[in-house]
Amino acid sequence: MKTLVINSGSSSIKYKLFDMESEAVLAAGVIERIGEESSKLEHKKYPGTEREGKTEQNDRVANHEEGLGKVVALLTDADYGVIRDRAEIDAVGHRVVHGGEAFHAPTVIDDSTIAAIEANASLAPLHNPANLTGIKVAREMFKDVPQVAIFDTAFHQSMPAKAYQYAIPYALYKELGIRRYGFHGTSHRYVTKKAAALLGKKEDEVNLITVHLGNGSSMSAIKNGKCVDTSLGMTPLAGLVMGTRCGDIDPAVHAFLAKQKGMSIEEIDTLFNKESGLKGICGMNDMRDIHTAREKGDAQAQLAVDMLTYRNKKYIGSYLAVLGRVDAIVFTAGIGENDSDVRALSLEGLENFGIEVDQTKNGERKKEARFINTESSTVKVMIVPTDEELEIAQQTMEIVGQ
Ligand code: ADP
Repeated sequence: MKTLVINSGSSSIKYKLFDMESEAVLAAGVIERIGEESSKLEHKKYPGTEREGKTEQNDRVANHEEGLGKVVALLTDADYGVIRDRAEIDAVGHRVVHGGEAFHAPTVIDDSTIAAIEANASLAPLHNPANLTGIKVAREMFKDVPQVAIFDTAFHQSMPAKAYQYAIPYALYKELGIRRYGFHGTSHRYVTKKAAALLGKKEDEVNLITVHLGNGSSMSAIKNGKCVDTSLGMTPLAGLVMGTRCGDIDPAVHAFLAKQKGMSIEEIDTLFNKESGLKGICGMNDMRDIHTAREKGDAQAQLAVDMLTYRNKKYIGSYLAVLGRVDAIVFTAGIGENDSDVRALSLEGLENFGIEVDQTKNGERKKEARFINTESSTVKVMIVPTDEELEIAQQTMEIVGQ
């Protein structure tokens, strides 16, 4: 069985083709700047197939239809391809950002699924229409192939109302769906499964705090394998300090800025989403640059790291309280997997809660999932590299294989 995973953005298509028997990646790539004057396509077929190959093209790709056509041409290409015919693709899995309350699980795409995703567009106006463009084009291109939508929000639909409701008039929830949905669900689910396996427990037996720290970041409280709370909200702006997003902030700052600086709603939205977080504090949003700067004595870079790790710690503390018993704290994504300083500082001083990091293990650079706690730590601390595309492919097969 071969599954194609598609993540369609407004001007991009990311794709990965998996052989689901071995779960090996056969080929992967990305097209960027679709519809602009010059586009960029990068495609790679992976070792283990007949020939290794990487190619880059810079011809203009006018729209998603043309883009997906190029993807299929490359997947079946004599030099760069890995299949002879598109008919070898058995299933297509699509990432969809916002499933609202309609979607708790991966869902086969039919006309009613598309209508329901469209109905959620107001909750993710930048993402859902872009995801739908990819879905519509793929349905045309792979007419008889089952296609499945995997929602970033679905894993968090198990949260109880006390965790997902905002304390504003309830009628607004009813009328507009204003509530916490959470995102990065595919990643939180993937590392939950992996961590459970490494802990030697069933998925429905584990209590975890999963810590996804990338450009966008979120933390989830997992009870018996299900999400009971998460840090992102109705939109991906809430919670932790992120690369360019502020995370939690007094909502009254919005009105204050509007009054004091005459800023529009759109300007404030951009400020909080694109100019804040690490970037807002020290002018940089890549952790590697920030560490280099703080090592040279840059006080703003130090403050940015202090703020990010302090916020992480506050969330870990609150999720310890939510869960009562925690088997493991699981770090994942770009920062979570690679940044030993952020991991150490986020857990510093939590020994009384049974959390002890082994600094030698924490400092080791390895690709595989592993434990970094001391022998005496009652809560395990883990690094589990995330793989959202594989999770999408696996969830697609769960549905298609039935
Ligand atoms: P996205 O949210 O875009 O998927 P990633 O999960 O790939 O992002 O994380 C990207 C971030 O990870 C980068 O902006 C950088 O801050 C951080 N990162 C990547 N590699 C390292 C590293 N070796 N050390 C510290 N931080 C890193």
